[in-house]
Amino acid sequence: MVKKSLCGLTAEEIYNLISPSGFNLSHAVSITNSIYKKRREEISGFAKIPQKLRDELESFSFSGIFQPAAYEISADKTVKYLFRTDTGKEYETVCIPDAKRNTICVSTQSGCRMGCRFCATARYGFRGNLTAGEIINQVISLPDAEKITHVVFMGMGEPMDNIENVLKACEILTAEWGLALSPRNVTVSTVGLTSGVETFLRSSLCNLTLSLGSPFAEERKSVVPAEFHYPVYTIIEMMKRYPREKKRRFSLAYVMINAWNDSDSHLEELKILVGSSGIRVNLLPYHPVTNDPNTSSSSERMQYFKHNLIVSGISASVRKSRGSDISAACGLLAAGLK
Ligand code: SF4
Repeated sequence: MVKKSLCGLTAEEIYNLISPSGFNLSHAVSITNSIYKKRREEISGFAKIPQKLRDELESFSFSGIFQPAAYEISADKTVKYLFRTDTGKEYETVCIPDAKRNTICVSTQSGCRMGCRFCATARYGFRGNLTAGEIINQVISLPDAEKITHVVFMGMGEPMDNIENVLKACEILTAEWGLALSPRNVTVSTVGLTSGVETFLRSSLCNLTLSLGSPFAEERKSVVPAEFHYPVYTIIEMMKRYPREKKRRFSLAYVMINAWNDSDSHLEELKILVGSSGIRVNLLPYHPVTNDPNTSSSSERMQYFKHNLIVSGISASVRKSRGSDISAACGLLAAGLK
């Protein structure tokens, strides 16, 4: 019999597994607490459940928590972890410590099939979806997991291309019986697959970020092929229409490339696209992949964009680069994988 991973299951799913033997929902919640809050790798270490239940769990399941295969530490203390599953899937996770927050950037797929031009993960190709358990394990298996305050789905893969597992991971991250993070501290990033975005907006209260590339549709097609099938303006219209609950944040990620998407006409088009929607714009430095002659816009140019967006009534920020020396920065994950 193939044993089942408990990590990745909801309290209700665990209850459904154990209730035929007479165990109740509070036993199921004790199990999720042992996995998601206490991060017990062995079922023998699960607390507040009878030994009979531990024995039963051992017979058909395992915790599903496993350690990274390798890690690298950046000069700025960002840490990149490599995970490898029993089936050979590889994927990377980045831990970004900061003065007031500790953020984990998780992968949702091994590789990616979206083919974005400026992304190392696209070059790696698509090797498979990650399960909800494999996504959650990237958070709970790390040292200092209890200090994590924010989770962003911005690692390898397109989250909306693996929407069921991503939604389940968001539920586990935010549920009281799970990691109990605020949905405001969980952000999912996408290039904009319409049906996935629609499902996500309807089913989750977590934040959403849309990767733009360019505000001009034809230009965006040359770097984000998803634009051919899922025009960005339809996604933005969907975000504008959706009621904003409990301070849920919608944003655009705009990676700025020198003399490519940082002209005044790009700035004006960006303003038109965002308008008075309340969508925030995060401006990010560009990190070239191997053999790419492009460079990042200067910090002065990024500040110029930020200033002009703010003056136009659009909330904007310039994000710092983290972990670029270990290929952990935005767009560089999978650069070292074969
Ligand atoms: S940018 Fe994101 S969606 Fe595009 S190829 Fe890279 S990982 Fe996939």
